[in-house]
Amino acid sequence: MKNIVIFGAPGSGKGTQSDKIVAKYGFKHISTGDVLRGEIKNGTELGNTAKSYIDNGQLIPDSLMIDILASVYDSFGTVEGVIFDGFPRTIPQAEALKAMLAERGTEVSVMLDLEVPEEELMDRLIKRGQISGRADDNEETIKKRLTVYHNQTSPLIDWYKNDGKYTHIKGTGDLETIFADICAAIDRA
Ligand code: AMP
Repeated sequence: MKNIVIFGAPGSGKGTQSDKIVAKYGFKHISTGDVLRGEIKNGTELGNTAKSYIDNGQLIPDSLMIDILASVYDSFGTVEGVIFDGFPRTIPQAEALKAMLAERGTEVSVMLDLEVPEEELMDRLIKRGQISGRADDNEETIKKRLTVYHNQTSPLIDWYKNDGKYTHIKGTGDLETIFADICAAIDRA
């Protein structure tokens, strides 16, 4: 059983690479962003709460996210592996993930940090916005999301280094080369 945290700024390719990991390894995939967008689409109470944060490029409160994560994780049952995509995004979330997995007799196997330079992130997200129709892929919200990433999420790099789980992945260049680096890290984990 492997628990893989796929980490990186918005636009670093977490979703794309997660799909490739699922296809190769058959792991389950939790994308907290996808879960929230699904709730918004279904008009649930959680969706209504989440929408204003997402549209503003802000993070949903930790307590809410942690509850969602545990319930999705438990719905998987017995699996070969799980990919956490877009979670954790804050230090309290990382601590909660560690505690949640420990309660279930397991732990994070590896944290993969997909690193992409800022200008390229901006470029990718603006292009994605033209096709995705995502309300938060517009220039103003993208800038806010990148600031949130720097202030609240990037401290997790040191947190996972201290936890001995950190692996750097060069997130630019050929998609298959990036994926090969990711597979090598998963196989080692
Ligand atoms: P993503 O699809 O991962 O880029 O997430 C889109 C938006 O959903 C983020 O900008 C946040 O508003 C919200 N979100 C997703 N995951 C989390 C999380 N782990 N903690 C807080 N907010 C989140």
